[in-house]
Amino acid sequence: MRYFVTGGAGFIGSHLVDKLITCGEVTVYDNLSSGRKEFIQHHLSKPNFRFIQADLLDLDRLQREMPDQDVVFHLAANPDARLGISDTSLDLKQEIIATYNVLEAMRTNGVKKMVFSSSGTIYGETPVVPLPEDYGPVLPISLYGAGKLASEGLITAFCHTFDMQCWIYRFANIVGKRGTHGVIFDFIHKLKNDPNQLEILGDGTQEKPYLSVEDCVEGMLFGMENSDERVNFFNLGCESTTDVSTIAKMVVQEMGLKNVKFKFTGGDRGWPGDVPQVRFNIKKMEKLGWKPKFSSNQAVRRAIKFMIEEIVESEEVCR
Ligand code: NAD
Repeated sequence: MRYFVTGGAGFIGSHLVDKLITCGEVTVYDNLSSGRKEFIQHHLSKPNFRFIQADLLDLDRLQREMPDQDVVFHLAANPDARLGISDTSLDLKQEIIATYNVLEAMRTNGVKKMVFSSSGTIYGETPVVPLPEDYGPVLPISLYGAGKLASEGLITAFCHTFDMQCWIYRFANIVGKRGTHGVIFDFIHKLKNDPNQLEILGDGTQEKPYLSVEDCVEGMLFGMENSDERVNFFNLGCESTTDVSTIAKMVVQEMGLKNVKFKFTGGDRGWPGDVPQVRFNIKKMEKLGWKPKFSSNQAVRRAIKFMIEEIVESEEVCR
């Protein structure tokens, strides 16, 4: 099989590539805006691996690089929901136009299968119950969530119009090795700069499901192998949750710090567009036979340990 992975040098994409390379040929298409070449360094000399450093907004280049592929995993995007506040065109370009370009390159090259990394943010702020995939109406409250929802619409429309097939995964918060953004990353960096106090956005009660990146990649591949509709769509997360104050305490503990003062910025959420209380219904994936290996708290704890190690290592290399 020939796999084309947009965003394959990113956090989740590089873990996916580590799996795909064991069973086929892999092309990574990534502009390295938030991804890192070091995440795919160990594959660069392999004969079944190709890295293209290019932008999805360059449709001509994308069309030229896509021929003879069997499956496109489309993961490239702006990964940070907060950035849409300061640049309102970011998610429009990096989600909607980028996704259109990927679909158009697939159509013109006759590539029929797409796997897409969507997000639970498409549901918006909803009653605090685990939401199934058919919950509606879906009304996102962030530009990031709107970009994901619009991308889902483009993907399903292309599938129906041009005889393509898709697997759409609405991710929970994904955490683990090679994490480059998100609450754990922020806390570790803040505490490295000032081990005496930690600024926490909101009131610390924000509570969400955190899924380990290993479970995320296994889930994507499992769902693909075990469902065969034209449009397949799943929540990919875990049912348990972790609140922000608990994450802060775990980071402090794992960094071996004492008497750290928590300074809450206040309010029920981290930023406008943040959904403070999230629950995931994963029964559709469970029905296929998939379950996450790690609970939310376990996934967070493991990610903290990995990321502390990585951050310390990278600082030692820089010295
Ligand atoms: P990431 O930033 O590590 O990965 C995104 C990759 O896409 C990066 O390597 C980046 O360089 C690349 N990229 C971005 N714009 C590009 C462009 N225009 N052209 C080519 N490459 C481009 O983020 P991630 O956390 O690995 O996220 C992967 C996907 O999963 C994203 O679509 C993200 O929205 C989605 N997602 C992530 C989470 C999470 O918790 N990490 C949750 C829900 C959804």
